[in-house]
Amino acid sequence: MSEMKKYQFWFCTGSQDLYGDECLAHVAAHSKEMVEGLNKSGVLPFEIVWKPTLITNELIRKTFNEANNDPDCAGVITWMHTFSPAKSWILGLQEFRKPLLHLHTQYNEEIPYATMDMDFMNENQAAHGDREYAHILSRMRIERKVVVGFWKDSEVQKKIASWMRTAIGIMESSHIRVCRVADNMRNVAVTEGDKVEAQLKFGWEIDAYPVNEIAEAVAAVSASDTNALVDEYYSKYDICLEGRDPEEFKKHVAVQAQIEIGFERFLKEKNYQAIVTHFGDLGALKQLPGLAIQRLMEKGYGFGAEGDWKVAAMVRLMKIMSAGMKDAKGSSMLEDYTYNLVKGKEGIIQAHMLEICPSISDGPIQIKCQPLSMGDREDPARLVFQSKTGAGIATSLIDLGNRFRLIIQDVECKKVEKPLPKLPTAINFWTPQPDFYTGTEAWLLAGGAHHTAFSYDITAEQMGDWAAAMGIEAVFIDKNTNIRDFKKDLMLGEVFYR
Ligand code: MN
Repeated sequence: MSEMKKYQFWFCTGSQDLYGDECLAHVAAHSKEMVEGLNKSGVLPFEIVWKPTLITNELIRKTFNEANNDPDCAGVITWMHTFSPAKSWILGLQEFRKPLLHLHTQYNEEIPYATMDMDFMNENQAAHGDREYAHILSRMRIERKVVVGFWKDSEVQKKIASWMRTAIGIMESSHIRVCRVADNMRNVAVTEGDKVEAQLKFGWEIDAYPVNEIAEAVAAVSASDTNALVDEYYSKYDICLEGRDPEEFKKHVAVQAQIEIGFERFLKEKNYQAIVTHFGDLGALKQLPGLAIQRLMEKGYGFGAEGDWKVAAMVRLMKIMSAGMKDAKGSSMLEDYTYNLVKGKEGIIQAHMLEICPSISDGPIQIKCQPLSMGDREDPARLVFQSKTGAGIATSLIDLGNRFRLIIQDVECKKVEKPLPKLPTAINFWTPQPDFYTGTEAWLLAGGAHHTAFSYDITAEQMGDWAAAMGIEAVFIDKNTNIRDFKKDLMLGEVFYR
């Protein structure tokens, strides 16, 4: 993810000149101290930049337009220290096009009981001024995030940090370019979708290439480059021959190394950050890209199997939103495969033929080489592992014909109860929230796909806020879901998103 920009967020404080210069000097000093404190907290993934206090229509408009035009600015944080008449904000807000956070905070934590006079009240009235400001945002139907609380509180800072990552997702969505090296699988419905509408709504560019064009890039990779990468694989992963001849095994692995290098060069040269493949349309490629795609996903590329470009873009989006996150646990494309329906142990094996991102792995990673049982190519080498435990989200972006719907499900990832010695693929295993039965019923009612974009690091709230910024429907399946209300959510979406 080295290509990620060093984004900044602007901190804009609202006030007015009714209370005199001394008050305005305090406002500026306080907001500077707050910006410095937030930057020093170590909680925020991006820097905040202090801006002079906004008190006039002209300056507000000018500042928002400067934010629009600054390529490093990923969003604006606004806060009304004193009362700031909200009509002054209309023109600026009308012209503002980037993510907006309304930080509803206050310079002081505690009421200064012994000393508080009317001057203090006038100077510190966010409780009052922020309501006036929020009113105009609501009147103007402006999508924004609201964070409430004392600015030194680490919980408040974590909420700002989380919103910053959502904002990066909103900003970077329009830079996602998906390379399709095959169409989606014949007869499959859920991997279809309106690519023009996807570009209008999300900014995604989704382009097709003949598979042999990328196969040529693979063939052009030298033996020495390929062998060097094979050596890296052999030093990094456990080799699991399972009775195969070591030299023959290594040749199969080398095919994937050559694909990894060739694909990455092709994607870099043509500026794509996500890719789809299709096991039934491989042209001159000797194997279905398995290990190669797994490694590319780990490097931050989005991927969707069987031509699933929506999942490819969503995986890329999750990689962007979690980039540089401390203790990140990973994100990947996954597919609902097989259930365990034993009472009390219900869950879903998540896997794919090959292409699961090793960022979600827990413990050692093996290279295996096994028949695919689909398609007509060599046995592909792949990375095999189990995934981490803990909470995650599974998302599915579907095209309902007249609109997109994002389904966001909270899941609890677990270890499988027993080893799976014969299964030659990486897996995850989870139980959907609120329980297997309700969670699965809701997913089916919403029309969720079998392919998902999954993350341990991104929250349902972040994905929902991203969807709101894109102007699409989002439905949540979580610990509070019950089927009767969930059906009402779907009905509401049917009416609202026409
Ligand atoms: Mn699939």
